[in-house]
Amino acid sequence: MDAEGFDRRAHQAAGERPEWFDLVHESLIVRDAAGRILAWNRASERLYGWRREQVLGQPVETLLQSAPAELAAAREEQLRSAGRWDGELRRRNAAGEELHVEVRWALHRDDSGAPAHIVETGRDLSERRRAEAALQASEHRYRNLFGAMAASFWELDFSAVGALLRGLRKAGVSDYAGYFAEHPDFARQLIGATRIVDINDETVRLFGRGSKAELLEDLNAYWPDESLPVYAASVLAAVGGLPHYRIEARLRRLDGSVFDALFTACFAPEAVARGRLLIGVIDISERKRAYAALEQSESRYRNLFQAMAVSFWQLDSSGLNALFAELRAQGVSDLHAYIDAHPEFLRQAMEVSVAIDVNDRALTLFGAGSTQELLGPVTRFWIPGRAEAFRGSIEAGWRREPGYQAETRLRTVDGREIDVLFFVTAPPDMRDKGMVLVGNIDISEQVAARAGLRQAQAELAHASRVAMLGELTASIAHEVNQPLAAIATNGAAGLRWLARAEPDVDEARTLLQRMSDDARRAAEIISRIRGMALRRAPEPAPLALDALVQEAVQFLQHELRAQQAQLRLQLAPALPTVQGDRVQLQQVIVNLVVNALQAMAQAGSPRRELRIETLRTAAGEIELAVLDSGPGIAAEHLDRLFESFFSTKPNGMGLGLPVCRSIIEAHGGRVAAGNRGDDCGARFVVTLPVAATG
Ligand code: ADP
Repeated sequence: MDAEGFDRRAHQAAGERPEWFDLVHESLIVRDAAGRILAWNRASERLYGWRREQVLGQPVETLLQSAPAELAAAREEQLRSAGRWDGELRRRNAAGEELHVEVRWALHRDDSGAPAHIVETGRDLSERRRAEAALQASEHRYRNLFGAMAASFWELDFSAVGALLRGLRKAGVSDYAGYFAEHPDFARQLIGATRIVDINDETVRLFGRGSKAELLEDLNAYWPDESLPVYAASVLAAVGGLPHYRIEARLRRLDGSVFDALFTACFAPEAVARGRLLIGVIDISERKRAYAALEQSESRYRNLFQAMAVSFWQLDSSGLNALFAELRAQGVSDLHAYIDAHPEFLRQAMEVSVAIDVNDRALTLFGAGSTQELLGPVTRFWIPGRAEAFRGSIEAGWRREPGYQAETRLRTVDGREIDVLFFVTAPPDMRDKGMVLVGNIDISEQVAARAGLRQAQAELAHASRVAMLGELTASIAHEVNQPLAAIATNGAAGLRWLARAEPDVDEARTLLQRMSDDARRAAEIISRIRGMALRRAPEPAPLALDALVQEAVQFLQHELRAQQAQLRLQLAPALPTVQGDRVQLQQVIVNLVVNALQAMAQAGSPRRELRIETLRTAAGEIELAVLDSGPGIAAEHLDRLFESFFSTKPNGMGLGLPVCRSIIEAHGGRVAAGNRGDDCGARFVVTLPVAATG
C-alpha cells in the first residue's frame, strides 16, 4: 500500500476530512493494529519533527521510542481490554531529543470486533514541565531566602484591607491620606485587618521572645502610634500602584521596646492579585547610633577646628600623595637628596597641597576677608627661598611621620610677613586619605622679644666690655705708651746720627725701621682696643680657640707683667673650630683672666700663677679653663657668682660673670665656677660645642 492509500484509509478510519485533521492543535496519529502509522497531522509534524510522507507505514514505536518501554505490554493490554489508555510517555523527536508527551489512545474495532486502528492524541508536556520545575525552584529559593535572610520578613494577607478601602471609596472618600491623618483609629483598624500569614526566623529573633506562634496574632502590636503615618503611607503606595515602598520607621517588639527599622513593602503584582504583601524589616538602630556618634564627633571636630585660638588649615594632600607615588615608582628613596637635585619639586609640591578649609583665626592671622581668599594651593604663602619648613614637612610626610613642627616666616594675603610656629598633623591613615591638618601659631611677638633680648644682651656685653677697658686703662695707656716712647727715643737718636759731621745713614735707617715697627705696633694695639670698645652686632663665624686665646693674652700682656703674674698656656693642638663672635668670646677670656689677676692681687698672694688650658672633652665638646693661684671662691659665694651685681670687690659692678654666662649660653655652651682640687685658687670652665661645619 502506498502512502496515499494509508492516508486515505486513515481518513476513512477517522471518519474526518484532511483539512479538519490538520487544523487540530494537538498531535493526532492513527495507527493500525500492528502499530504502523496510517495518519499523521501537522501538529504531529511540529511536535515530533517528522514529515507525514516520512512516517506513513512506519511502526510508531520504532519511530518515537516511547518510554518507559518496559510498560509497553501493560499499556497495550489495557488498550485492548478497556479500549483506551491515557498517560505520559517520554518520546524522541526527529532530532533525537527527549519529549514529555501526554497521550490518549482510543481503540476502534472493525465490524467483526477485531482491533482495526488506534487513534492517538498527544500534547507536549516538556515546556510545561520545564516551567513547573523552574517555578518550583524559584519558590524553593524564595522559601529558603525568606527563612534564612538576615532581615525580618513578613508575608501579610491584606484582602480584608482592600474591602475596608473599597468601603471608604463607596462612602465617597477619595483623599485617603487626609482621611488617615484625621482618623488614626481607621489606620489601626486597617492594621488589625491585616493577617500575618508567615514570618521568618529573623522576625522571631528581632520582634519576639522565642516562639513563632505568639507573633502571628495581631499586627497592631508592632506598630507604635508614632509610626501610624508610615503604615498609612505604605497603604497609599500600594493603592497608587508603586512596585515597592521603603521608609525608616520606629517599630515595637513584643516586649514593648521600640527600635529604628528600615521598612520595605514589596507589592509584586501577582502577589497583590492574591491579596498578599511582603514586608522586610531591618534593624538599623546600631547604624543610626553609629551615624549619630559620627555626626557628633564630626561636629565636635568642626567646633574645635573653628574655636581654636590657633590658625588651622585643612589641606587636601592627595595630589602630593600622587607625586610621592610617582617618585617611588621611579625608584626614589631619599626625598631630601631628590629635592637637592630637583629644587623645582618644592614648588610642584606646594601647587598640589591645596587648602580646602580654614578656621576664623586663620582669616585674621593671614589678613583675609573671607575663607575663599585662603583656599587653593598654598604656594603664595611661602616666601621664595624661605621654605625650609615646607620642605621639612613634606620630607616628614614622605617618611610617614605623624607630625612636623618648625618655626618659619609666612606671607599673608595682604602682603605682610609673619613669624609662625608651623605644625603639621597627619597620622598615616589620614595622610593616605589625602587629609593633612596644618596649624600656625603667631610668634611674631616672641620672635621680636627674642631679637630684643639678643640686642639687650649685646648692649650689656658692650657696656661690660667698656667697663672692662676702663679697669684696664692704666695697662692700656702703658701699652700704647711703650711704642710711642720707643718711637720718640729712636727718633731723637736718629736725628743725632744724622746731625754728625759725617751722618751715619745706615744707623739712621735702622732706627727709622724700628720707629716704623713701633708705630705699627701702636696702631695694632689701638685697633684691638677699638674693636673691644666698638658697639656692633655679633657676627658669628668659625673660630680657632687657640688663636682667640693668643689674641686675648696679647691684650693682657702688660697687665700680667704689672701684676707679676706668670702665665702658662696649655693649648690642645688641632682643636676643631667653634662657631661664634670673635670679640664676645675674647671678652669672656679677658674677663676671666682679669678676675683671676684681681683675686690674686686682692689676696696679696705671693705666688701669682695663671693657667689657660684648652682641650676636647670625651663628649666631643671644647673646653677652655682659666685657673689661678688666688684665694679661690668661698663656699657661700659659689652659687651667687653669676648673679647680676654680685661682687666682693670695693668698686666691683658684679656684671662681668653674668655677661660671660649670657655670651657663652648664646653660643650654645655653658660656664661653671669652682675651686682647684690640688691647690688653692679658682677654676672657671667654659664649654662650647664644635662648629657644625668644623
Ligand atoms: P666684679 O668683677 O665686678 O666683682 P664679676 O661678675 O666679674 O664682677 O665677679 C663677681 C665676683 O666673683 C667677684 O666679685 C668675686 O667675688 C668672684 N670672683 C670672680 N672671679 C674670681 C676668681 N678667679 N677667684 C675668686 N673669686 C672670683
